[in-house]
Parts: sequence; C-alpha cells; structure tokens
Amino acid sequence: MLTIAVSKGRIYEEALPFLQQAGITPTDDPDKSRKLILQTTRPDVQLVIIRATDVPTFVEYGAADLGIAGKDVLLEHGAESLYEPLDLGIAGCRLMTAGPVNAPEVKGRLRVATKYVKTAQRYYADLGIQAEIIKLYGSMELAPLVGLADCIVDLVDTGNTLKANGLEPRELIANITSRLVVNKAAMKMKHQAIQALIDQFENTLAQR
Ligand code: ADP
Ligand code: MG
Repeated sequence: MLTIAVSKGRIYEEALPFLQQAGITPTDDPDKSRKLILQTTRPDVQLVIIRATDVPTFVEYGAADLGIAGKDVLLEHGAESLYEPLDLGIAGCRLMTAGPVNAPEVKGRLRVATKYVKTAQRYYADLGIQAEIIKLYGSMELAPLVGLADCIVDLVDTGNTLKANGLEPRELIANITSRLVVNKAAMKMKHQAIQALIDQFENTLAQR
C-alpha cells in the first residue's frame, strides 16, 4: 500500500491531473466528504487529507510514504528529513515581504508578523537586519494596519489581498510551487512502486 498525503483546496485540485494520469482517482471528493482517508481507483494507493503544514510531518514519520507540499511549507519545516524528487510546478505564488504603501522608514528593530517564523528569521539574519518575528496563524495583512508589526512575510499571488488592505509587496524571498516529497525509508523499502509513480508524474510534467 502507498499512502499519499495531500491538503485540500488549490494543491489538491492542481495535483489531481498528476494523480489521474497515474491511474489514481479518489473515490470521494474531499470537499464534500468528511473522510480523512480516501480510497482510490488503485487498490494499492490511498490518500490522506491533512492541513498543508502537516504534510512534511506525516511524510517524515512515515505515516504517509509520499506527500505534496508547497515549497513555503518545506522551507519552514526544514526538508533535510525528506526526499524532494520533483517540482510539480503547481500552486505557484511568491513568498514576499510586504508593508503599508508609503510607510516611513522604520527606526530600530523591525517588527515582522508571519506564520513563516523560521524562514523570516533566516531571511532577515542573512541580510543582517535586526528583526522581531511575531507568529500569527492567519490574516497577516491586518498586523501592520493595527500597529502590531511594521511589515509581514506572506504568500503573494495576485497581490489583491495586499492591495485591498493598503499594503504593497516589497522583497521576494522565494518563488513557491508545490513539490512531491518522499519518506526516506519508504524510498528504499517501496522503491519500485514509488519510482514508478515519480516516473508517471514526470511524464505528466513533460506533456505540459
Ligand atoms: P492554510 O489555509 O491551511 O494555511 P492554504 O490552503 O492557504 O493553507 O495554503 C496551502 C498551500 O497552498 C500553501 O502552503 C502554498 O504552498 C499554497 N498557496 C497558498 N496560497 C496560495 C496562493 N495565493 N497562490 C498559490 N498557492 C498558494
Ligand atoms: Mg489560506
């Protein structure tokens, strides 16, 4: 049995064509079903539907053999404990800093609100900028508006959410797409099945 961890929403939807070309069609729709384990048209493959940020954890501990996760999540989790054989090129966006339009220069320590605490810490440390990172779980855009932070580190796609809140994108931290990740032990123990899946995903990529 192969278990693949994937999150609902955009990544799931954009990953479906890859799965389908490998003969994997889930028998339930995760947006309609409350099931957390989905069987598929391949009796040897099941999907587990989890939060995006939990995908590396499930794969690292071998609770899932494979997973599909955004590079943002992998950067934050640390990917040394996983193989990352394939960039699927889906769910593209950018991890950026953003702040209020026409904001005055910050004097002293910069306050940054984000859910990407480690990534932000690394980014500002590399620039030699003293930053205080404030962990939030959502609605990062609000933080500069109410004086919680000078700026934010968050994903930007169209920039419409920033714009609607009087913020503008500033520096690019990383271009983000979703990656296939594989548990290291599973890669050895289930090598044939996993390699076959990687090959099928690569074929799908090559056809794009
Ligand atoms: P959650 O709400 O659980 O934090 P999201 O569904 O917002 O998760 O995001 C899950 C993943 O989808 C992110 O880790 C990222 O890789 C990708 N993603 C999030 N927002 C966007 C976006 N605006 N454009 C493209 N990809 C995105
Ligand atoms: Mg979200």
